[in-house]
Amino acid sequence: MIVNEISAKTVLSKSRVFDYAVNPYVGCEHKCTYCYARFIKRFTGHKEAWGDFVDVKINAPELLEREIQRKKVGRVWVSGVCDPYQPLEKRYGLTKQCLKILSTFQWPVTIQTKSPLVLRDLPLLKTFNDIEVGFTVTTSEERIRRIFEPCTPPIEERIRTLGELKYHNIRTFAMIAPMLPEPEPLVLRLKGKVDRVLIDRMNYHYADSQYKLYGLQHALTEVFFSEKKNTLSHAFSRENVPFQFLY
Ligand code: SF4
Repeated sequence: MIVNEISAKTVLSKSRVFDYAVNPYVGCEHKCTYCYARFIKRFTGHKEAWGDFVDVKINAPELLEREIQRKKVGRVWVSGVCDPYQPLEKRYGLTKQCLKILSTFQWPVTIQTKSPLVLRDLPLLKTFNDIEVGFTVTTSEERIRRIFEPCTPPIEERIRTLGELKYHNIRTFAMIAPMLPEPEPLVLRLKGKVDRVLIDRMNYHYADSQYKLYGLQHALTEVFFSEKKNTLSHAFSRENVPFQFLY
């Protein structure tokens, strides 16, 4: 793993999903094989494999403090093209420092992660008037998780963290996206721990070789996504869990 400390030029960037995104890191140690964020390599000149490098924007808090005072209030996505709670966050604490600034100015925030490390910042999360924390949970099966998300925390830890956040009155959501094989048991496991669930299909081709290697090509077909839409819609409705399909 190559870690570079860099000075960024800007950190509060426009986002197509929310108003803004704050990415304290370039690259992600979680190394998901399907990750769309690897497009960032084109703009940063990295030749290493996705997951083998991280640039640490050591001046991110300083930049954010300056930029937030010049821009119109809007919802901030933490993070979008990296996991804000990847393991390096333990050492650098940049996500935490950025959240402190966002809380001072009371900007609305949506955190999206796969890591229970977010619980370290629970007291800080409670200082926001408007904050939600989402966990990406793409399958119910550890065997599948290890194929596509080799360096991420186990599924059970993510679901337990959602429950803990909910217990502390933090708004939570789960992203079953991109949907991998065997998502159905997630319905009962997520029930009571999330305010809503968003579901999307696999929209990228980066992980095609893993599907092939493990004989999982059926899980990339229209039939698969349409069957899962049917069964998950029924199951989430039956359990009264708000959900939305994005495909
Ligand atoms: S955690 Fe998110 S940003 Fe990180 S590698 Fe996985 S999909 Fe990409």
